[in-house]
Amino acid sequence: MHRDGCDPDNVRPEDVLCDFCGAAAWAAGKACVEGHRGSLICGDCLSNAYRSVVLRQDELPSAECVLCLEVREEPAWRGRRAEAAACRRCIKQSAGVLHTSRHWDWVKPANP
Ligand SMILES: [Zn+2]
Ligand SMILES: [Zn+2]
Repeated sequence: MHRDGCDPDNVRPEDVLCDFCGAAAWAAGKACVEGHRGSLICGDCLSNAYRSVVLRQDELPSAECVLCLEVREEPAWRGRRAEAAACRRCIKQSAGVLHTSRHWDWVKPANP
């Protein structure tokens, strides 16, 4: 997401925030994955989401996903910013993208 009051014609890295924790992950040079309409999930949130929804298979209610804008019949994860949810498909896809990207050293969490 973009910081409140940022100039849409001149979006700076520090204006791009993780939808799930609000961190300026982009400016901090952290791994992150973009979704629809300027949405963003940072690597830290993605790790938490992956552990919850994929590894532990937590039973979470479905919700509109900020990354794909769909409401899917599957668990949707929420981070510190409770208004944003991510569906399991997007979590898996994003994890695949970051895991295989040579640009980031993000590694998919594994079962202990
Ligand atoms: Zn985050
Ligand atoms: Zn989604």
